[in-house]
Amino acid sequence: MDKISIRDARQEDAIGRQATLQGWIRTRRDSKGGFSFLEINDGSCMANIQVIADADLSNYESEIKRLSAGCSVTIHGEIKASGGKGQATEVQASEIIVHGWADPEEYPLQKKRHSMEKLREWAHLRPRTNTFGAVARVRNRICRAIHDFFQEDGFLYIHTPIITASDCEGAGEMFRVTTLDPANIPKTPEGKVDFTKDFFDRPSYLTVSGQLEGEIYATALGKVYTFGPTFRAENSNTSRHLAEFWMVEPEAAFFELDDNMQLAEQFLKRIATDVLNHCEEDLAFFQQRIDSTVVETLETLASKAFERIPYTEAVEILEKSGEKFDFPVSWGSDFQAEHERYLTDQHFKCPVILYDYPAAIKPFYMKCNDDGRTVRAMDVLAPRVGEIIGGSQREDCLEVITSRMEAQGLDTDDYWWYLDLRRFGTVPHSGFGLGLERMVQAVTGMANIRDVIPFPRTPGNADF
Ligand code: ATP
Ligand code: MN
Repeated sequence: MDKISIRDARQEDAIGRQATLQGWIRTRRDSKGGFSFLEINDGSCMANIQVIADADLSNYESEIKRLSAGCSVTIHGEIKASGGKGQATEVQASEIIVHGWADPEEYPLQKKRHSMEKLREWAHLRPRTNTFGAVARVRNRICRAIHDFFQEDGFLYIHTPIITASDCEGAGEMFRVTTLDPANIPKTPEGKVDFTKDFFDRPSYLTVSGQLEGEIYATALGKVYTFGPTFRAENSNTSRHLAEFWMVEPEAAFFELDDNMQLAEQFLKRIATDVLNHCEEDLAFFQQRIDSTVVETLETLASKAFERIPYTEAVEILEKSGEKFDFPVSWGSDFQAEHERYLTDQHFKCPVILYDYPAAIKPFYMKCNDDGRTVRAMDVLAPRVGEIIGGSQREDCLEVITSRMEAQGLDTDDYWWYLDLRRFGTVPHSGFGLGLERMVQAVTGMANIRDVIPFPRTPGNADF
């Protein structure tokens, strides 16, 4: 018999097939007529399939009547039309093989609903719940949409390094990579750490962004993107920061800030559209159980034009809002989550792209505007989540970028290769970074970023 996923077995065109299904029991119900109903889930979709196990199966009394949530089974049987509500098909079992038991006294995922906090302690079992199964499927669809979008638009997928020695690009605190023994650190005669004894001969770190390396490939191949793990050792225990997260970073040559904004908007629209088209069942679950604005938010993302406003104008809107913010707003300060949320959720009620930020709060590589005080930065803010994308047009003038680096106290010798890109065949170029987990939050309505990545790493937590 052919193996078939529950997702396929639930379709009407499967009726009449002899098939093999494999998965985990969700529930068992014994009927008075001497047979049992089993609900089986295999992760291929949110829904279970109902299996009818008649009493004449050889292991009915010895095994089937002992099945409980979490047991693993193989079912051979015929897929039939079902008279039941909410299901087109069911399976009449001809054989049921039990692979593994799950003692109902000990298995934690029984009928009772557990809090998200509790489920975080069971990172090894939580994917078996409806919520985490749905998050995993939606996350997968988002990743597929990311690759499809860039591949169809001619962007090359490149892999930027995870270990890097360029430490100071201002994106955040970095994790050190070293093989030195912390109990026995080699020292120079001056009493400093002797990094020449370390694995890479110099201080090395986990990457906070693939951008600088992305620029190298963009200024050779035109349009590229990198998509991989990213690390920030910020000690910020918030619902939207992880120490290890995934970032998608396109970088394109002959690309100005307007092109960059356009790309970011098309990109987010594509992800939203693909999820709407392919994850209907999971979205209905999020809408019902997690956040009743999920579908509406996605539809806005997919079809409404993003609002584009300069930073300076956003400051004016916030100042005039009459809102009481915990952090006051004034020109020159960075926006906090509460400000971002006011702009997206209350003022514009749609995604917002802020651009032309004060130079003083942005890194050296962002292109200077002629006004002498702002740079060609852009942040995309999504409803509920706030900043989801950060990007910019890059400074392409050797003299300007050199003096910006000096002003920010960076050693230009460390960046000789980065400056070479401006020395040899420089071009206007731009890029941005999308935090995958923030996107998953925007799409699913999940309140805490720890619940949209399989194994969250946060301060004090890297258990498994
Ligand atoms: P924030 O101000 O929200 O901390 P950032 O400005 O430091 O973010 P960028 O350096 O612009 O972030 O990174 C690009 C994108 O990566 C952000 O827009 C966000 O989606 C994501 N991101 C940044 N830091 C984190 C983090 N610690 N955990 C998860 N996603 C992150
Ligand atoms: Mn940012």
